[in-house]
Amino acid sequence: MMSDYDKLFISAIENRDIQTLKLIPKADLHNHFFLGGRREYINKRLGITIPHLSNKLHSMDEMHTWVEKNIGDIFGTTDKRRLAIEATFVQANDDGVTVLEIGDDVWANGHFYGGNVNLLIETFQEMQEMFAPKIEFRFQIGLSRHCPVNMLEEWIVPFLDKDCFFSIDLYGDEMAQPIKNFKPIYRKAKEKGLLLKAHVGEWGCADSVKEAVEELELNEVQHGISAYKSPAIMNWLADNKIQLNICPTSNVMLNRVESIKVHPIKTLFDHGIKVTVNSDDILVFGQSVSQEFINLYDAGLFNAKELNIIRKYGLGIQ
Ligand SMILES: [Zn+2]
Repeated sequence: MMSDYDKLFISAIENRDIQTLKLIPKADLHNHFFLGGRREYINKRLGITIPHLSNKLHSMDEMHTWVEKNIGDIFGTTDKRRLAIEATFVQANDDGVTVLEIGDDVWANGHFYGGNVNLLIETFQEMQEMFAPKIEFRFQIGLSRHCPVNMLEEWIVPFLDKDCFFSIDLYGDEMAQPIKNFKPIYRKAKEKGLLLKAHVGEWGCADSVKEAVEELELNEVQHGISAYKSPAIMNWLADNKIQLNICPTSNVMLNRVESIKVHPIKTLFDHGIKVTVNSDDILVFGQSVSQEFINLYDAGLFNAKELNIIRKYGLGIQ
């Protein structure tokens, strides 16, 4: 049966009514908090103007160069890191995100919090209480792929001693090192009962998505869009109920996809895979979750009912 939110969402999408969309529960399960704030908010708080990303980028290197040039080290101190967390909670709250999955990198614990994971935890929790008290905050542990595995294994220890974390994610250059290198870390995270995610199939091929899911025993994949090239792998993902947390504008601006109109999220959805719609890096790509839903509708990729199913996948409602 359709709830009031279902009806409201469907009519808001059909009317491209972003103000109403903002009032409807939705999830953001793929958000790098460091770049999760809106440029207007950063400007208000720091007086710094970050330009719009106007042209497509073609590699993670180009993305890093753009971020380096236009954002640089404006979040390079502990206080400013705190501000990046604040800006992300403010943005999520404003967009009516009710489930937000974010967290810091294990590397950052030593760099920004003096190696005191309690301080890292308190910082996120304080920012949530102050700026988004009603949001369900799912605390994520982040791993950068380029870091040596023995360092990651050491840095993650204090995180795994705590009970407040919900999930683990792996990001950065997909080609940095073989996925199997991270197996021991993911085994420990699984023992701890964490939800297991990794960025894969953004730059890599369809096979790399299956390989990562099998090697790391992933529950969800960040992006995973290249799976659309293999019907067999799409069926396998659907059968194994592996959710893909997709960021459409990010995929277009990083030239993974020609345009929203031809985004493979539709093919993946039609194959019975649970897909969700997320923001990735709002400070770079400028699109809130609500806006992303409108973008997909405007491109003619989905009807409003289908988008409502996707919204509910994000919230864990079948
Ligand atoms: Zn990402």
